[in-house]
Amino acid sequence: MLADKLRDLLGDERVLRDKEELLCYSYDATLKEFFPDIVVFPLTTGEISKIVKLCLSYNNTPLVGRGSGSGFSGGSLPLNKGVVVSFTKMNRILELDEENMLVTVEPGILNGDLKTFLSEKGYFYPPDPASYEFSTIGGNVAECAGGPGAVKYGVTKNYVESLEIVTGTGEIITTGSKTVKDVAGYNLTQLLVGSEGTLGLFSKITLRFIPKPEANSLIFVSFNDINEGYMAALSLLRHKNKPSMLEFMDKSSIDAVKNYFKSDIIDFKGAFVFIIEADGTKSEVETSIKDYENILKKYSPVFLFSSSKDSEKDAIMGARRAISPSLRKYGDLKINNDIAVPVNKITGMLSFINQTSSRYNIPIINFGHFGDGNIHVNIMLYKSDLEMVERGERAKTDILRKTVELGGSISGEHGIGILKKEFMGLKYSNYYMDLLKGVKKVFDPYSILNPGKIF
Ligand SMILES: Cc1cc2nc3c(=O)[nH]c(=O)nc-3n(C[C@H](O)[C@H](O)[C@H](O)COP(=O)(O)OP(=O)(O)OC[C@H]3O[C@@H](n4cnc5c(N)ncnc54)[C@H](O)[C@@H]3O)c2cc1C
Repeated sequence: MLADKLRDLLGDERVLRDKEELLCYSYDATLKEFFPDIVVFPLTTGEISKIVKLCLSYNNTPLVGRGSGSGFSGGSLPLNKGVVVSFTKMNRILELDEENMLVTVEPGILNGDLKTFLSEKGYFYPPDPASYEFSTIGGNVAECAGGPGAVKYGVTKNYVESLEIVTGTGEIITTGSKTVKDVAGYNLTQLLVGSEGTLGLFSKITLRFIPKPEANSLIFVSFNDINEGYMAALSLLRHKNKPSMLEFMDKSSIDAVKNYFKSDIIDFKGAFVFIIEADGTKSEVETSIKDYENILKKYSPVFLFSSSKDSEKDAIMGARRAISPSLRKYGDLKINNDIAVPVNKITGMLSFINQTSSRYNIPIINFGHFGDGNIHVNIMLYKSDLEMVERGERAKTDILRKTVELGGSISGEHGIGILKKEFMGLKYSNYYMDLLKGVKKVFDPYSILNPGKIF
C-alpha cells in the first residue's frame, strides 16, 4: 500500500492516516471540507521527489501541497482525496546572502517569521498579506500574495528570484538565478509564481529583500464625494515618495464599522475614506505627510487626521481591521471576491457594485487597496435563505463580468482554486485555456499535482 511505502520513506511520525488527524488538513479559509487519504511531512527536496514518484507508481495518486491552509480559494483542498504534502516542517532559513540582498528559505516558513528575522538585521521583506503572521512563504508564492504595501512595493512576484521545485514527474529543477538580470530562456520563475501548486512543489525559495524604512506615519481622511477622493488619490500616486499604503473604505464599509469600532480620534464622517501611509527616512516621512495633507486639502475633505504616534496609528489601523468582524451583522454567509480593476475604473466599478446591491436587494460591502485597484467585495447573505443565496451568486457573476469588461482581473490576490474556475471563460478564450492546460501538461503530464484547480 502507498501508506506503507510512505512510512518506509518518512517514518511513522511523518505520515498521518487517522481520521481525527486528517481533519486538520481537510479545510482552508473557504471552510469547505475535503478529506485526504494521507498527510505527509517531508524534510528534504529528495523526500518530496520520492513522494511524487511513489504517488505516480500508485495509480497516479493526487498530491496537494499545503502551507498553513489559509487560502481563500480552496487551493490546498484535496478535492480528489490522495496525499496532502504539508510543508510545515520545512521552515528553515537556509542562507542569508547580505552581499546580494537575498535570502533562501524552505517553503514552510511563515511570512511573519521571515519579516522579523530580516527586520532585526535592518532589512525589509515587503509582501504583506493580512495573513502574514500565519501564512507560509510557499503558500504566498503559490498564490502570489499581496497586501496594502503593494501600491509602493509590489506583490510576492516582485521578490522571487529563484525557485527549486519538484515537478509532477518527481524531477528536481532550479529556476532563475541570484542575478538581477537573467534572460536565459523562458522565465519559469514567474510562471510558477501564482501557479497554485498545479505545476510543481516548491522546496527552496530565494527572495530579494530591501533596506528597512526608518519611519512611517498615517493619515485618515474622508470625503463626501467619491470623485473628490479619487482625484486626490491620483495626485498622491504621482508623488515622488509614493504612499506605501492607500487603503479605502466606501460608504458601505464606513456604515458597517462606525457602530462597531469606537475611537476618540477618528470621526466616521463622509462617504469615502482613505488610510494613507508614508514611509522612508524620518525627514522624508515628515515632508511627504505635509505634501499629502496639502494635496488632500485641495479636494475638500470632511475629516483629516494624521499621526506618527504608535497608539494613534494603531487606532487608525484598528478601523481598517474592524471591517471584517463588523460584517457579521449583515449575515452568516459571505461571498468574498478580490477583484482588481485599473485604478481609473475603480469609481465606475464601485458604482456598478452599488447598483447590483440595490438590484438584488443584498448588502454588498466594499473596501480594499485603492492604489492597485484591488477591491474586496463582500456579498452578505443568510445561509438558511436559499433564494437569497441564489441572488447573491447572480450578483457575484454580474460583478465578475463587469470586472472583465473594465479590463480587470477576477482575482487580484486570492487565486482561482476551485471557487472561480467556472469564471475563467469570462476573460479567456478556449485557445488561451488550452495554452494554460498545455503548460500544466509539460510540468505535470499525469495531472497528479493539485488536480481540479484553476481549470
Ligand atoms: C484572515 C485572512 C487574511 C488574508 N489576507 C490576505 C491578503 O491580504 N492578501 C492575500 O494575498 N491573501 C490573503 N489571505 C489568503 C491566504 O492567506 C494567502 O493566499 C496565503 O498566501 C496562503 O498561504 P498558506 O500558507 O496558508 O497556503 P495554503 O492555503 O496552504 O495553500 C495555498 C496554495 O498554495 C499551494 N502551496 C502551498 N505550499 C506550496 C509549496 N511549497 N509548493 C507549491 N504549492 C504550494 C497550495 O497547494 C494551494 O494551492 C488571507 C487569508 C486569511 C484567512
